[in-house]
Amino acid sequence: MMKVVVIGGVAAGMSAASKLKRNLKDGVDIVVYEKGEEVSFGACGIPFYVSGKIKEASELVERTPAQFAENGIDVKIRHEVTAVDPAKKTVTVRNLDSDEIFVRNYDKLIVGSGAGVRRIPPLDVPRPNLMEVRDVEDGRRLRDRLQGDDVKNVVLVGAGFIGLEMAEACAKHGKKVTVVEFAPRILSVMDQEITDRLAEEMKNNGVDVLVDSKVSEVKLNGQSISAVVIESGGQSRDLATDLVVNCAGIVPNTGFIDVQKAGNGAIIVNEKMETSLPDVYAAGDCSIMNSSITGQPQYSPLGTNANKQGRIIAELLAGKPLPQFKLIGCSALRLFGLDAAKVGLSEREAQSAGVDYKTNLITGNSYASYYGTEKITVKLVYEAKTRRILGAQLVGQGVVVARANYYAIAIRAGLTVDEFGFLDMCYSPPFGGVWDVTLIAANTAK
Ligand SMILES: Cc1cc2nc3c(=O)[nH]c(=O)nc-3n(C[C@H](O)[C@H](O)[C@H](O)COP(=O)(O)OP(=O)(O)OC[C@H]3O[C@@H](n4cnc5c(N)ncnc54)[C@H](O)[C@@H]3O)c2cc1C
Repeated sequence: MMKVVVIGGVAAGMSAASKLKRNLKDGVDIVVYEKGEEVSFGACGIPFYVSGKIKEASELVERTPAQFAENGIDVKIRHEVTAVDPAKKTVTVRNLDSDEIFVRNYDKLIVGSGAGVRRIPPLDVPRPNLMEVRDVEDGRRLRDRLQGDDVKNVVLVGAGFIGLEMAEACAKHGKKVTVVEFAPRILSVMDQEITDRLAEEMKNNGVDVLVDSKVSEVKLNGQSISAVVIESGGQSRDLATDLVVNCAGIVPNTGFIDVQKAGNGAIIVNEKMETSLPDVYAAGDCSIMNSSITGQPQYSPLGTNANKQGRIIAELLAGKPLPQFKLIGCSALRLFGLDAAKVGLSEREAQSAGVDYKTNLITGNSYASYYGTEKITVKLVYEAKTRRILGAQLVGQGVVVARANYYAIAIRAGLTVDEFGFLDMCYSPPFGGVWDVTLIAANTAK
């Protein structure tokens, strides 16, 4: 019987374990070690639980260890893997409740250890009112604090996807929210034409955004933070706060294994999720693979990838054909009344990959012009010579994210702007114009 050890019990680890068990049934013995309290939860739903849209934290948990046990998967929570010995094919595990340390051997090892929040000084010291958002328990603690009247001002550090979603969640509790971002603009994975719209939306909803700024120091009242010192353009000032949420990025959890890694610590994998060690696979936020567009390594820590990558390992270990996953890099968010999405390369990414590209930017209607007033802005990035679509970013109202997905399919299929512009698509006024805004963006590409 094949003995499999899985490290990490969330998206990558549990999708690998579940599918492998379904594939091999009694032919596989799977144990999952998870250092946290819960497994198989949807971290992506945490901002919506914190905002109050999702009523119970338990709704974020898909399956419990007991439910996995019924399906023959042994899930050990509060068990941390501290070392891997690839020569002996063993892992060293610490039971966090009893402090017992033991060794377990494997035939195949699946690393799905994810990533943790980046803690940069002065946010690297635990404080009662300094929080992070990574698991369900973080969400519970944060919502409890936001429900209290003692919290009036909240500072969010980092204006990436999670920071922005959390800013909205805090604002929905009636708090005064300030987002502090080191970069010159918010959500810098997207281009400025898109992020300017999102920044305006934040402002219109009462959220202050400080860019080109960093939290250089914290002022304390007892153990708690009473103010953060913001440095910007050589000046510094105090900003009083009752709660600080650190959303300053993530760091892959890979310190326990000696394997080939990228500069950020993510484990390098190929399209089979194989690492540089024999019989050791990695998937999800702890790993990095090549972009199918540039052929260069692309860290894409997203739930959508983690689930697919975990499943790829399960199919391969069961001797099934390799699923045809191509990393494009697709992400989306809703910010108050605006939706935004990015698929493939931004202009900045095309530039740094050394691609000879062109762009096209248009704003059009989300529905037939006589049916609704919602607008969508589309920015396309395409290869200058071949006119192949490389990336698309959309922001606006109406059906935004599903439209971005048309372009994801086009990138996967290698379509040019000219081929895309004449795609046969559904049309009826409640869904779009007779020439959909996505077709117009392709057809007006010079
Ligand atoms: C607030 C928030 C919102 C998000 N929104 C979206 C979204 O809208 N769309 C999207 O695609 N993605 C989103 N994501 C990202 C998505 O949740 C992650 O990409 C996904 O959870 C990654 O899954 P994973 O299994 O690789 O890692 P993780 O979810 O990080 O799970 C890894 C697990 O491994 C455990 N672990 C680590 N080291 C060890 C060890 N040594 N021993 C034992 N256990 C260990 C950890 O405790 C953790 O539970 C969001 C994330 C957050 C936090």
